[in-house]
This record gives sequence, structure tokens and C-alpha cells, in this order.
Amino acid sequence: MPFSRREFVASTAAGAALAGLGSTAFAAGSGEPDVIVIGAGLSGLEAALTLEENGLKVLVLEGRKRVGGRVYTLFDVPGHPEVGGNSIANAYGRCIAAAKKYGVEIVNLAPLLMANRAGQELFLDGAHIALKDWAEHPRNPFVGDARKLPPWAWADSMFKQHMPFKDLENWYDTNHAQYDISVHDFLASKGANEAMIRLGYDTNISYGTTSHDVSLLQQAFSDHWQNVNRGAVMGFSRTGAAPATGAAPSGGAAANPMANLLVGVFKDGNQNLPIAMSKKVKGDILHGRRVVAINTSESGASVTCSDGKVYRAKAVVCTMPFATLRDVAIDPLPPSLQWKAIRTLGHIPITQFHVVPKKPFWETDGLSPSMWTDGPLGVVLAQRPADDPKRVTSLTVWCRGQNGLFIDRYGVEEGKRMIIAEFERLRPASKGQLTVAASHSWTTDPFSGGDWAIFQPGQVRELRAAIAVPHKRLFFAGEHTAIGSRGMEGALESGERASLEVMNAIG
Ligand SMILES: Cc1cc2nc3c(=O)[nH]c(=O)nc-3n(C[C@H](O)[C@H](O)[C@H](O)COP(=O)(O)OP(=O)(O)OC[C@H]3O[C@@H](n4cnc5c(N)ncnc54)[C@H](O)[C@@H]3O)c2cc1C
Repeated sequence: MPFSRREFVASTAAGAALAGLGSTAFAAGSGEPDVIVIGAGLSGLEAALTLEENGLKVLVLEGRKRVGGRVYTLFDVPGHPEVGGNSIANAYGRCIAAAKKYGVEIVNLAPLLMANRAGQELFLDGAHIALKDWAEHPRNPFVGDARKLPPWAWADSMFKQHMPFKDLENWYDTNHAQYDISVHDFLASKGANEAMIRLGYDTNISYGTTSHDVSLLQQAFSDHWQNVNRGAVMGFSRTGAAPATGAAPSGGAAANPMANLLVGVFKDGNQNLPIAMSKKVKGDILHGRRVVAINTSESGASVTCSDGKVYRAKAVVCTMPFATLRDVAIDPLPPSLQWKAIRTLGHIPITQFHVVPKKPFWETDGLSPSMWTDGPLGVVLAQRPADDPKRVTSLTVWCRGQNGLFIDRYGVEEGKRMIIAEFERLRPASKGQLTVAASHSWTTDPFSGGDWAIFQPGQVRELRAAIAVPHKRLFFAGEHTAIGSRGMEGALESGERASLEVMNAIG
């Protein structure tokens, strides 16, 4: 006979807490907090600081041994490469303001990154294809003028030509429900065949696992976010919005035609922003506290950690990505659509390898170190210090979507071996020259379960509105709940919104 949910949770630490049997713990010496924030990523820290600024007592519970969540810098690898959140742009108003408020400098990498991207090499089926030969190459599946585009530019050009909206700020509005279809079906309806979609969208995908599991409205949201950040500033709006003006907050780009474009990083590592924010949180931030259960009622809430400790407060702000929240026992269960969203919202799989070269092998074979491939290496981006763009400190290997899932199956050590072997196959000059300094799978990471949240076809229409609705005294934040911005900015947007909801609820 199957366990009922109540019987199951009662047999675990979580269940003991839900039944009121767990030991209650508070932060040492600080008494019961008004609000518990789960997660010390950008959204949780923003919520904690906003609540404290408004006079509430906060306790932060964080599963990892560090703050930052999906903002994670490898401080001990040359050049401090980013494993998570990479860059901010012009419309990241909250991030720019937070950097100023917490004393973190922003460095503008725009000119440097543009130069680096131009030098990206194309490798298909293990062979190098010079971009000048691509238009006539037998592997090129595109037609007409699109044959001149490298594979990584094809989907953008399709969206620019065919996206049914000019600039969809209110992407979630029910009026657009008929476009909550897969990107695959949309591209196919515009004449794309399977080979085009596979190479031009699914290979090194930006969202989701394949074009079948990404809603066109999700794509429209991302396009809008690109547009307000970069397209409009650079005057090449891909969805048609008018060019905007506005100066980047810092960086020495004045003489550059891209002077108004911000591709910003936080000096010496993006994790410096959440670290600086965490230092301003007055309440305790308890690390290594994996949340396994949340109990919510009309008058308060409690949170149980894997060590059996129970923390109580008037309200809880949960910033856990849904890919991890679905493993938590929430009692009572959220309303059915919200619970369905928690169980099913998609995330893009991403695994990274950070490779340090002993010698610049690209000077031997005469190609750029950066690559776009259809093999296990996915996309390789050379990391260059802002003050010396000619120098390469490390190479970041981005395994995304199906490629990320594929490489994860081999485990960490075999994955590293495969990456080096693939480098040596594609670039024989790299033989014996490479060390994998670090790797990270966001998909198998127990505290993220993937990167960006992805609305799958039909999910915007069915689930979007239910995602962040407060469940009694349980409030939801995290980038997956943001509607006006994405990524790091979306995280701050969501922390701000959730803290206002809490203040309205508990005064
Ligand atoms: C490879 C990569 C590249 C990216 N590039 C960019 C970019 O260029 N620009 C951009 O804007 N954004 C980018 N992002 C996205 C951006 O980093 C995230 O959207 C943002 O940091 C999410 O913040 P968050 O607070 O919502 O979630 P998180 O940072 O994930 O915070 C949630 C916190 O909850 C904790 N947690 C989870 N489960 C539990 C549990 N059971 N118990 C206790 N704690 C738990 C986690 O440890 C984490 O600290 C990128 C992300 C990745 C991974």
C-alpha cells in the first residue's frame, strides 16, 4: 500500500517538524526572527537587506558553504573566471545601484568582448570550417542569405524577421496565449527544417534543452531583455525598438563606437557583489543549512533543515530554484497550479570546464582560442583580463542543453578527460598544454538543479501567474519569479517584490 504524503513526511526529519516534534532552533542569541529567508543568492540577500532596512529581524538559511548562489567566482583560478552569472548590461539598474550602495566597482568589458567574439572559430564534425568558406560549405543547412550567417547567428536573424511582436515587455499577458508554443514549431512554421533548427538553435542552446521545450513567449521575454539592454543601445535592435541613448556607468569606452554599451562585471569577480551585500545583513546567515521542509499557516511559518533543526518566524521568503524546491515537503501543499509549476518548470542544463593553457597553442595553429563546436566542447570562450586583452588567462568550456546533460553522465573525472581529449582532437597544437582547473555542473548541483528557469510551451499560459503568489506566510522570490528582467537583475527584482509582500502581510 503506498504511503500517503502525510505518513511519508512524518517518517522523515521533515515530517517530525511538520508534526511539531522537531527541536526548534534560532540564530544564536538573536531570538526568533520576523522573517526567514531561504537562500543567500542575490534574490535572498536583496530581500533580507530590504526587510532589515524596514525594521524587521531576518535570519538567512543557506544550503551551501558560500553566498552568491548562481553567482560564483573561481577566485583561485587565474583571471577569476565566472562559473555562474557573467555580466550585467545597461538595463541592470538594480545591480548597478547595488554595486554603488555596497561599494563594488563595475568594470565595462564591452569593447573587449566584442573583439573576442569576432574571433570565434567554427568546428563541425571535428573539422575546422573557415567562416569565409561557410556560405558554400556542404554542412551549411541554411538557405538564401542565411547561408552567409554563422550557425550561432541564424536563430537571432529568424526571430528578427519573424517574431510576431516588436518588443514584448508584457510577454506574460494572457492576450499572447496563442504564442505559448514551442520555438521549434514556430521556426518550422517559418520554413525552417530540422537540420536548420538542430544546428541553428539546439546546438549550444541558450534556453532549455531543445527548441521543443522552450515557449516562444520565453524567447520573446529574452529578446525583450536583450533589446532593452543591448540592441537598442547599439542601434541594431533585433525586435524593432527605437535606439536608446544613455551612458555606461564606468569603463574606458569613451573613444569606442560602443561607448554607450555596458557589458559589466564586478571588479575581481562577480561574487564580490553578493559577498559585499552579505556583510551588510545584520541577522545571521547560517550556512550548510539544507532546507527539507516548510510549514506555512495564516499566522506564521517554520522551516526544517536536514539536521532536524526547525526555525520559526512570522513569514518565510523562499528563493530556492523550483528544480530544488520540488524536493522540499511543503505543508500544506500550495494550490494545484503553483505546485505544478514547482514540479515542472524547466531549467537550462549548463556544465562548465575551466581550462588553463600552459602555452598559447593558438599561436601555433594560427586560429582564435575561442570556438563554437557541435561536439562535447560546445562553446569555448577565451577569458582575457580587462587591462590586457591580448592575454588569455583561461578558457571556459560551456556545455549547454543536451550536450551538458550528455557530459554530466560521464561524471566529473571522465568529463574532464573527454574535454581535454576533444581539445587535442580539434586543436592538435593543444596536446599536453591544458589543465582543467575546475568544473561545475549546475544541473547536478543539489542547490540549483540547472541554470535559468525556462517556461516550456503552454507553461506561460497555464502556470506563470501562479508561480509567485504568496502561500499563506510563505513568499516566493528568485529569478524564476521575475517578470520585468532576467538573470541577476531578475533576482534583485524578485527579492524586492517579495520583501514588499512580506511587509504588507506582517507590517
Ligand atoms: C553559467 C551561468 C551564467 C549566467 N550568466 C548570467 C549573465 O551573464 N547575466 C545575468 O544576469 N545572469 C546570468 N546568470 C543567471 C544568474 O546568475 C541567476 O539568475 C541569479 O544569480 C539567480 O539568483 P537567485 O537568487 O534567484 O538564485 P540563486 O543564486 O540560485 O540563489 C538561491 C539560493 O538558494 C540556495 N538553496 C537552494 N536550495 C536550498 C536548500 N534546499 N536549502 C537551503 N538553501 C538552498 C542556493 O544555494 C542559493 O544560494 C547565469 C547563471 C549561470 C549558472
